[in-house]
Amino acid sequence: MKIREQALQQLKDFSENFLSNYARDRNFDFGPDKRTNTSCLSKYITHRIIDEEEVLKSANSKYPYIKIEKFIQEVFWRTYWKGWLELKPKVFQSYKSDLLKLNEQKQSKSYLDAIGGKTEIECFNDWANELKHTGYLHNHARMWFASIWIFTLKLPWQLGADFFLKHLLDGDVASNTLSWRWVAGLHTKGKHYVAASWNINKFSAKKYNHLKLNENATALFENENFSSTPIHFDKLNNENSLFLAHNLDSNFLLKTKDKFNHYALFDFNSVLEKENYSKKVLDFKADINAEIADLIKVNFNSTTIIRNKDELLKIVSEKNIKNIVMPYLTCGYENDFISKIKNEIKITYLARDYDQYCFQFSNKGFFGFTEQIPKILVKFL
Ligand SMILES: Cc1cc2nc3c(=O)[nH]c(=O)nc-3n(C[C@H](O)[C@H](O)[C@H](O)COP(=O)(O)OP(=O)(O)OC[C@H]3O[C@@H](n4cnc5c(N)ncnc54)[C@H](O)[C@@H]3O)c2cc1C
Repeated sequence: MKIREQALQQLKDFSENFLSNYARDRNFDFGPDKRTNTSCLSKYITHRIIDEEEVLKSANSKYPYIKIEKFIQEVFWRTYWKGWLELKPKVFQSYKSDLLKLNEQKQSKSYLDAIGGKTEIECFNDWANELKHTGYLHNHARMWFASIWIFTLKLPWQLGADFFLKHLLDGDVASNTLSWRWVAGLHTKGKHYVAASWNINKFSAKKYNHLKLNENATALFENENFSSTPIHFDKLNNENSLFLAHNLDSNFLLKTKDKFNHYALFDFNSVLEKENYSKKVLDFKADINAEIADLIKVNFNSTTIIRNKDELLKIVSEKNIKNIVMPYLTCGYENDFISKIKNEIKITYLARDYDQYCFQFSNKGFFGFTEQIPKILVKFL
């Protein structure tokens, strides 16, 4: 079955059979073999194989808002985080430069034990192994893991965020970096998330005895204050244009009514390989790329796949391309790669109406964002 069909089937199954009990059951991590209490749609939504609007519409068509409010809010956490990081992109650049400085610590025993699942904390080891084997962790396990990493093992949050991003099939720079900062107490200054033994034992399927966690930790602190900069959204100019599809907005082509002169796929895997993304994640992205390539072939009779800057510049010169158009790339390694080429050729990012509208509400806390949800739903459902 094609990946988009799998995603649509999963959305249908979840909406029809499990969504009604989501608010009651969602916090339980019943283990990898029993994952029906949350949607498990994240790997599809991250790559927009199905997008937020489709998920919200499907949920909304089954139940009144009040019954599914919690689920809708969770979907909007993603939108909130993405808008927040677009408004403060320096947070990602600062995280990247911290990672460079921390590179040596990747050889330390404490770091290698943590990512190898060889610490003295059994639940932590289980989650480290589960993440590497499945490419997924339940939300609650992500919170516990991040909290233990930061406050009990006292490892830098940036290294933990990096480990997650490279192994999660749903790895998303905004949701991941900002969730780690939230756990550390850097997002809402001084408000951190401390994992407690009773909570882990109540909400996980396997019971863990003798957990020795630092349950009295204080929040992390940073000196830097990140200010917001307005988000710039390009206007479309498709004069002899090349549309470059990519897998961070995989179904964009199914949605846009704009027409372009040429079509191709940009395969970012070589960019991500250099950043040491896991094989599992790269393989998943390769499968998505194959599906997008197929779509472009069937609909636009193009088999062009571009993998690096030289290949891109070659096609630009051969076909006398005046403008490259891409679905908007939010903060991340892919955007950093393309941003460098923007000095050499005109590249237009096309943003969806949904993103353009919602991102403006990410300028405060999530509570402020939730007040806008009814207005957003009226506009997009
Ligand atoms: C430390 C940490 C790191 C995380 N890293 C990522 C990441 O890289 N990518 C990612 O998509 N999510 C991330 N999350 C958020 C969340 O854990 C996952 O989105 C969720 O577990 C995915 O499972 P699901 O599809 O069953 O979610 P459901 O509970 O069914 O929620 C539906 C959808 O809403 C979105 N969503 C739900 N909760 C959140 C949340 N807290 N933040 C953002 N979006 C949310 C996802 O797209 C999800 O698929 C992280 C959370 C923490 C605490």
